[in-house]
Amino acid sequence: MKIIIHGGFFSESLTNQEVKQAKQEALSGIVQLGYKHLQTHTALETVVYTVRLLEDCELFNAGTGSQIQSDGKIRLSAALMDGKTQRFSGVINIEDVKNPICVAEKLQQYDDRVLSGKGACDFAIENGHAYYNPETPQRRREYEQKLSDSIRLGTVGCVALDMHGNLAAATSTGGKGFEMPGRVSDSATTAGNYANAFAGVSCTGVGEDIVSGSVAAKIVTRVTDGMPLMAATEKTLEEMKPYDGFAGIIGITADGQIYHSDTHPYMVWALHDGEVEVFN
Ligand code: ASP
Repeated sequence: MKIIIHGGFFSESLTNQEVKQAKQEALSGIVQLGYKHLQTHTALETVVYTVRLLEDCELFNAGTGSQIQSDGKIRLSAALMDGKTQRFSGVINIEDVKNPICVAEKLQQYDDRVLSGKGACDFAIENGHAYYNPETPQRRREYEQKLSDSIRLGTVGCVALDMHGNLAAATSTGGKGFEMPGRVSDSATTAGNYANAFAGVSCTGVGEDIVSGSVAAKIVTRVTDGMPLMAATEKTLEEMKPYDGFAGIIGITADGQIYHSDTHPYMVWALHDGEVEVFN
């Protein structure tokens, strides 16, 4: 059993040691809870549980504490992929819910599994998700100070391998911050979140770059065709260089390879495979 999580990239982490330490402590606590959950639950159940904890932690740009878009609203995207069934489900630009990953989980049962905008919001209400404003005073201050020129990324993600050898991946984001309404993140696409019977991958970074590189699906496909996870990840990141792509990756394979990498060394992440490791 193994679990790896990320808390995205943080511009604050470069300059503010206190913020960085708080994020590391949060990741360390959450990866331990996720690993405990994995002892008695499937990979799919565990990635939902763990991403939900990350969404509820306002240090991260997902769920509570998400970035505000250029028109002053918060829109959330989240996706879930079960490696066993190869079912992808997700919500794109949903508003006023606490845990978009739980809406994505519900959609696993449906024929129509990726919903956007109003359709996603209506589906959440119909399924008992109460109105919730994910804004925090800190994000409002940042929005009002018009910090749109700094990179302020902090998507969350989780990949888990359970006791049955099954994999799952989940990713959740508030987006890039200050984006145009209607902009679609990579997080609820197969470029940002992908899993099959061989590997699972969750990405963070600039969504446009990740979609252009078809990153998560490409890494998983390379592993499926026999490449080790490290080589598959590095080759895929190398292919982003011509357009200066910005991405961070976490992944696990069915045979237990676990790996993370980033084009810019600022992704915060943690793993648990019996022992906890927290980095950056
Ligand atoms: N990938 C996310 C997006 O572009 C942002 C992030 O990873 O922080 O929407």
